[in-house]
Amino acid sequence: MPHLLDLSGRTALVTGASGDIGSAIAITLASHGAAVGVHCASSVDKADAIVEAIREKGGRATTVCADVADDAQVKGMVAGLSRELGAVDILVNNAGVRRRTGDHKYLLDVTEEEWDLEIDSHMKGMFLCCRACVPQMIDAGGGRIVNISSVVGRSGLIGASVHYPAAKSGMFGFTKALANQLAGKRITVNCVAPGMIDTERVRWRTPEQMREHVAKIPLGRLGTVDEIAAAVLFLASPIAGYITGATLDVNGGLYMA
Ligand code: NDP
Repeated sequence: MPHLLDLSGRTALVTGASGDIGSAIAITLASHGAAVGVHCASSVDKADAIVEAIREKGGRATTVCADVADDAQVKGMVAGLSRELGAVDILVNNAGVRRRTGDHKYLLDVTEEEWDLEIDSHMKGMFLCCRACVPQMIDAGGGRIVNISSVVGRSGLIGASVHYPAAKSGMFGFTKALANQLAGKRITVNCVAPGMIDTERVRWRTPEQMREHVAKIPLGRLGTVDEIAAAVLFLASPIAGYITGATLDVNGGLYMA
C-alpha cells in the first residue's frame, strides 16, 4: 500500500535535522513527498548538506535555524518556513542537546545549568514548537506531531543521568495530554522511543563497553537511524490516522512496555 505512506502536498518541520537521527527523518519524509524544513541550532553547513541531498533527488527542502527553547526564534522559524514551503502539517520534535561523551552524571554532580539545558532543549523545545505549529494544523483541518523520546525515559537505564531521562519521560505525559486536546482537531500526537541507535551519541563507548551494552539488547545489535525514520514516517503517514497518544518503541527489545 505505497500510497498510504505518501506525504505529497504536506510540509514537515524536523527539528534537530542537522543531527544523526533528524537527518535520516528529514530525508525519509522528503523521499515520500513532503516538503521539509531541515532545522538546526547552529550547524548550518550540516543542515544545508541535507537540503542539498533532498533537492538533488527532486525533493523540496530548506534550512531553518532556531534555538528551540527560545519562543521568539521558534515563532520566526515557523513563520519563515510556512512562507517558503507552506504551513506545517507534520512536526517532528527531535532536537535535543548534543552529547558526544559519556557524560552520565550522579545526581549531586548535575549542575543547575546542565539540568536547564537538557529540559529546555528537549521539553521546552517540544512545547514551543507545538505551540507555534498547531494553529496552522488547525487551520488546515489536521496534522501530525511526532515526539522523539527515548528508552531511558521509560526505564531510567543504569548509567543514565537523572536529567536526560527526566526530559525524555516528560515527553510521554505531554504527548498523551496534547493528543487528548487535539483529537477533535484531527491532529494526532505520538512518540517514538528509540533504544541505542548507531550514532555519534553512543559511539563514545570503548569497544568493550559497547559489547556489554549490545549484549543487553535482545535483538543483539544497535538500531539504525533509518529504523527510527521509518517509525516516524509511519506515524506521519495516512496509514496511522487512527493512532494518537501512543509510543512506538524502537529498541530491539531493550525495554518492553
Ligand atoms: P544529535 O546529537 O546528532 O543531534 C542533536 C540535534 O539537536 C542537532 O541537530 C542540534 O543542532 C539540535 N539541537 C540541540 N540543542 C538544540 C537547541 N537548543 N535548539 C535547537 N536545536 C538543538 O542527536 P541524535 O540524532 O543522536 O538524537 C536525536 C534525538 O533522538 C534526540 O532527541 C535524542 O535524545 C533522541 N535519542 C537518540 C538516541 C541515540 O541513540 N542517538 C537514543 C534515544 C533517543 P546543531 O546541529 O545545530 O547543534
